[in-house]
Amino acid sequence: MARVSDGIELLGQTARIAPLLERARSGRLHHCYLFEGPPSVGKHTAAELLARTAACTAEQGPFPCGQCLTCKQMLKGIHPDLIQVVPDPKRKSGTIGVEQVRELIRKVRLRPYNASWRTVIIDPIDALMPQAANALLKTLEEPPPDTGFVLITSRVSSLLPTVLSRSQRVRFAAVAEKELVPWLNSKQLPDAERIARLSLGCPGAALALGEGGLEAMDQVRAELISVLNGDIPAVIDAAEAISRTKDAKAALLLWLAVLETLLRDTVMWACDREDALIHSDQPKLIDAWSGVLWPGGAGRLQLLIDQTRQRMLVNVNNRLLVEALLSSTLRELGPASRARLQ
Ligand SMILES: [Zn+2]
Repeated sequence: MARVSDGIELLGQTARIAPLLERARSGRLHHCYLFEGPPSVGKHTAAELLARTAACTAEQGPFPCGQCLTCKQMLKGIHPDLIQVVPDPKRKSGTIGVEQVRELIRKVRLRPYNASWRTVIIDPIDALMPQAANALLKTLEEPPPDTGFVLITSRVSSLLPTVLSRSQRVRFAAVAEKELVPWLNSKQLPDAERIARLSLGCPGAALALGEGGLEAMDQVRAELISVLNGDIPAVIDAAEAISRTKDAKAALLLWLAVLETLLRDTVMWACDREDALIHSDQPKLIDAWSGVLWPGGAGRLQLLIDQTRQRMLVNVNNRLLVEALLSSTLRELGPASRARLQ
């Protein structure tokens, strides 16, 4: 089964990491693991699963419960005992700088916030600049108490021997097509066989390939941002246009989905998870939205999206729904509604 816990689907790797999860539950984790394998094969997902298993406060079950406060906060990426270090998006080179590692070292000098085991995920470890790698080595040598590192790489040959010698290596292999295809089918993605093949057995890559609706979403995103750059009359015009499209309900659902992904990104941005952005091509816009929407506005707009979906089920006038949604978005965004696509 792909779904192993709330918010975590892990395909084809569960047998590989089962012994680690067992160790996590009994508090016997090694202080440093190296997860190696092709990109988008599930290494990062497995690392998060390990972190959550080690920190979950529930007693039972092979996987994290998904229900305790720790699980929920880790799932949202806001638990201080799950620290993620990824390339600084401001660096064009895609590297992890020494100042990021120094910041990490400062954090891990303090005791874990409330989990019994704190996890640091560095993805990818090969993005560390030499100075950054040297700064990290001492911490790997003398690890802080109750803290484990999961280093992730697709290019193990580029790692320093000193990093390799301090890590327990866990190798991830491509997911078999017979497992990948039903999973893609279960997600109603078209051309599942072709996508599975093109992805070389990497579920993350397969999903990205399967998102054939990407063009449509991009178009709606451009329209949405353009409407929000305007004012109330622009909102009324847009609502009118959407309600007149052939399949107004599908059109509205797409608008809701796009707005939802933008809101999600504002939350990710606020939680320093730039690596997880859907709209990673629009950091300025996400930054501007996040500045005004986090934390209250994003929650209120998400609630409104949920309510809009509910009301669509009982056939409330689509035009009125769009007007209400967009004018609330305008109001919440305030001056940030003027943020434009890059
Ligand atoms: Zn839990």
